[in-house]
Amino acid sequence: MFIEISDEQIDAIINGSLSGYRYLQHISLKERSVLMHTIADEIEALDDGLLEIAHTESALPLARLRGEKARTVNQWRSYADAVKTGIYAEARIDKGDGAAKADIRKYNKGIGPVAVFGASNFPFAFSTAGGDTASAIGAGCSVVFKEHPGHPQTSQLMAQAIGRGLEKFGAPASVFSYLQGGSHAIGQSLVRHPVIKAVAFTGSLGAGRSLFDIAALREEPIPVFAEMGSVNPVFVLPQYLKANQTALAAAYVQSLTLGVGQFCTNPGLLFVLKDESLAGFKKELRAAIQTVDDAKMLHWGIMRDYNSAKSKLSMQGGVELLGEGRVSATDTGVAALYSTTGTAFLENKALAAEVFGPTGLLVECDSSAELGKIVESLEGQLTITFAATTEDIRTNTALLDKAQEKCGRILFGGMPTGVEVVYAMQHGGPYPATTDSRFTSVGPDAVKRFLRPVSFQNWPDEFLPLELKDENPLQIERIVDNRRALASDE
Ligand code: NAP
Repeated sequence: MFIEISDEQIDAIINGSLSGYRYLQHISLKERSVLMHTIADEIEALDDGLLEIAHTESALPLARLRGEKARTVNQWRSYADAVKTGIYAEARIDKGDGAAKADIRKYNKGIGPVAVFGASNFPFAFSTAGGDTASAIGAGCSVVFKEHPGHPQTSQLMAQAIGRGLEKFGAPASVFSYLQGGSHAIGQSLVRHPVIKAVAFTGSLGAGRSLFDIAALREEPIPVFAEMGSVNPVFVLPQYLKANQTALAAAYVQSLTLGVGQFCTNPGLLFVLKDESLAGFKKELRAAIQTVDDAKMLHWGIMRDYNSAKSKLSMQGGVELLGEGRVSATDTGVAALYSTTGTAFLENKALAAEVFGPTGLLVECDSSAELGKIVESLEGQLTITFAATTEDIRTNTALLDKAQEKCGRILFGGMPTGVEVVYAMQHGGPYPATTDSRFTSVGPDAVKRFLRPVSFQNWPDEFLPLELKDENPLQIERIVDNRRALASDE
């Protein structure tokens, strides 16, 4: 049930988030880390009732939701531990000489209150208490969260857990504010509000782009970190295919149909060279897709969009149905694999469009040169995967070079679904995968999105933030006296 909320109420909530931001700026990195662990405790303590509600709202299986909840807790804890080390403060101290050279000290501080939009496909890990909220608070920014209409009750339970965490720690409720969803207007006024200094979003290209444009047109434009569409191409090279037809077909179809295909890293495109292995590989792919059961999708709108995108793909010239999954009902997402040629793919941009759901397109290419042209033609992606041997790559190094220009994560073997929450993870990529390819939305480095550098010139120690004081009370890593070090290197 959605509760109507007036513009005045929205305005008051967003204005209130400024005091939450200022509070976070005045506690130390260590205290912020303890606060994040306290919130993690509260999320961890939520019982299976939460999983039941999330299951009812999202149709995601209970086992998957249990794993996602654990991942969400781990995100809070690992980001909290990273924040405590001070690595995101990036403190640099160039001491003055008391004469011509000034004392200059720089660190990163939270950018200000952040608007967060939750994703429908991860009701825990990328929604209310998901990675965007955890990383914004880790950066010392308060959050104003816009509820996703696909899972309101789940969202409210998570918001209450955050609220309890704040209360237990002794932080003001304004560190995390919650706006009920149900209309685009609420999200749009949030992004337009002058108190908001950055936006985090995961969802469709249309919504992400529209919020990005609103943010750019504000009197004071602000950064938008939107994670949107990606078709996550998989390039299969000949030597690898010859030895792995059955295993690769099974792995690809498993990844394509995992979670009814509703992952941002879903491998929607599969490129292969036409050779003597192709006929066998197609047979294996057809057999694998025919064993996939249909299943309920996240919400009605996603299923409608899936069926419409799938039908559009099937009607393109040069596209043939290779195989379809099982059908048991009329309100489910049915898996499908289509095939086309490299020439048709290069001539028709519609074949590269994302079909959010368990549908893939096999593209049969004439030569390595054609594969190269295809990589060049691709839009920005979250991931590109090579199913290849080392020898395959040695004879196709140009492909590897071109692929790096197009994506945030490049895989040698394996499949792109499954995004580990670690420092080295890059979950982002050139537009339209995201609106800012310089950042990740998974892993502790996600915190960096909500920071901005500030230099202090010639300030007495007592007025400096803890990160920059002479005695280094937080014991964090800093680059000190680099000016002298650089000079002595000359
Ligand atoms: P969505 O339609 O993009 O909605 C995401 C959030 O943005 C919701 O809170 C929605 O709430 C709000 N919103 C939507 N359009 C808006 C607009 N024009 N202005 C302001 N706010 C807007 O995503 P979805 O409902 O999760 O799924 C729809 C499609 O998104 C899928 O079919 C799929 O293609 C894509 N998707 C992609 C990913 C990914 O990981 N890249 C994940 C999930 C979904 P309100 O309706 O209340 O405004």
